[in-house]
Amino acid sequence: MKIAFIGLGHMGSGMAANLVRAGHEVRAFDLSEAAMRQAVADGAIGAASLRAACEEAEAVVTMLPAGQHVQAVYDEVFGVASKSAILIDCSTIDVETARQVTAQAGGAGYQMIDAPVSGGVTGAQAGTLTFMCGGTKAAFDLAEPILEQMGKTVVHAGEAGAGQAAKLCNNMLLAITMIGTCEAFALAEKLGLKDQVFFDIASKASGQNWSMTSYCPVPGPVPTSPANNDYQPGFAAALMLKDLTLAMQAAAQSNADTPLGCRAHALYEALCNQGHAAQDFSYMMERIRRGA
Ligand code: NAD
Repeated sequence: MKIAFIGLGHMGSGMAANLVRAGHEVRAFDLSEAAMRQAVADGAIGAASLRAACEEAEAVVTMLPAGQHVQAVYDEVFGVASKSAILIDCSTIDVETARQVTAQAGGAGYQMIDAPVSGGVTGAQAGTLTFMCGGTKAAFDLAEPILEQMGKTVVHAGEAGAGQAAKLCNNMLLAITMIGTCEAFALAEKLGLKDQVFFDIASKASGQNWSMTSYCPVPGPVPTSPANNDYQPGFAAALMLKDLTLAMQAAAQSNADTPLGCRAHALYEALCNQGHAAQDFSYMMERIRRGA
């Protein structure tokens, strides 16, 4: 299959490489020369322009920073790509823009889905991402076989924007459980419990959660967690703040009450402003231990 891949940064590079490995002809386009060089080294064809990448494509996959980039790229894709091409946006963006761009795609005669991911850079490289998809069943059916070559779980969440909605709600919950886990470890330490002892108990008790058992914010109990690697990401605090900002925007627009999401947003904003944006989001542990 001929696939145009737009946006070959931290995530897109690994995803495009997996499509190459699956035997597709991948035409890559990115504004960054370094990203283009890496894509070509991974076996993609470097396209001179967005237009050149999309002209003969049977599928267009985008992995871009934010809503405004997605809107700008699809403004150009519409009219260049064949109407039979399936359009797949894997970026994490606001629900409103996702719905708007998909509606524009429909108006221009295209099938499109939003398909944001969970699993981070390691998942992108290993082809083990989870895709949360929004769009019609017909569009999902066209996209699913392509997504399966970049991930291990592909879920149809509902109509346009439902993928973004699932992603934002999931990451808001992740932020809340991470902060809660950090607070519990910090209090346990002050009460004289060793981290490993508290982990052994809470991970088998009702406080158990993913932030503790798979991504423990203190070094030791989960050897693969970023806490054991000086809090190198992983999933950077800046990206968590981005997702929480989108979640708070969606909450305001839908009149949803999210008191803990709101607090989590404020805490991650403070962490980023204190110079820790590039560290893993579990660095919240240090912030909570410090108490400011
Ligand atoms: P990134 O900044 O590394 O990559 C984005 C790429 O898009 C860059 O290479 C940039 O040059 C390119 N780009 C921007 N505008 C463009 C345009 N008009 N035409 C062509 N290329 C353009 O970001 P990333 O970490 O790869 O994240 C991509 C998306 O995935 C974001 O929406 C992010 O929120 C989401 N995401 C990231 C992670 C993660 O761990 N990094 C995890 C899940 C989801």
